[in-house]
Amino acid sequence: MAGLAPRGSLLPGRAGATRARSTRPLLRLGGLTPLTSIDYPGELAAVIFCQGCPWRCGYCHNPELLAPIGQDPLFWGDVLGFLQRRQHLLDAVVFSGGEPTLQWALPEAVKQVRSLGFKVGLHTAGIYPRRLATLLPHLDWVGLDIKALPEDYPALTGVPGSGARAWESLHLLLDAGTSLEVRTTLAGPVSHRGKVETLMRRLAQAGVTCYALQTPRRVGGPCQFGEEHVNPAGLMASQDAAIYAPCGQALFPHFELR
Ligand code: SF4
Repeated sequence: MAGLAPRGSLLPGRAGATRARSTRPLLRLGGLTPLTSIDYPGELAAVIFCQGCPWRCGYCHNPELLAPIGQDPLFWGDVLGFLQRRQHLLDAVVFSGGEPTLQWALPEAVKQVRSLGFKVGLHTAGIYPRRLATLLPHLDWVGLDIKALPEDYPALTGVPGSGARAWESLHLLLDAGTSLEVRTTLAGPVSHRGKVETLMRRLAQAGVTCYALQTPRRVGGPCQFGEEHVNPAGLMASQDAAIYAPCGQALFPHFELR
């Protein structure tokens, strides 16, 4: 998932009692959260976790979703059947991951979900700006991870040039006027106070109006960056992260610490 993505429970594939093994679209899925009120602003939503991500962020919260093929996949036909049973009970469906835009089958899946009457949200790290551009007309809301200033990305993701891609996606979304929340996780090279405030100023100058700072969720062992690179906010959440609140509140009409 993009950034601090998946929250709520993952329901692995074996949870399905019956499987309509639909082959269209060929979307590789790693899990489903059937109901959440925190992953799409103001709406009751289900979250679909797409399998696979080409980046390797040290704080990734869902490493089981990074490989192209998961060990216990869900089938798109089962997910679609679930959503058909939730029509008029849920407002929205969010595609998360992993990185959803990795998969060529995503646009068709998005269209199918929208045809059921759901709003569609996307959690993305902005890894594939061109694919994101073609998807935009079919999206109602996007949660975009901007992990750092462009030059600091490789230290986080392990991928040269990753910052340029993410920031290109940001500008694309801002130019399109897409309903957008930008998020940053306080970890690694972004965790120093000067960096955080510089990043926030650059985002505000770019036109971001809705912004969230997130503290890393450290599940399943120590952060791969090592303790010395984890902002104390990652360990003692709100009271330490609160040092960023005055700057964030001054820069963004909508600012949140998580
Ligand atoms: S972009 Fe980073 S945090 Fe998001 S799913 Fe990929 S590796 Fe994990």
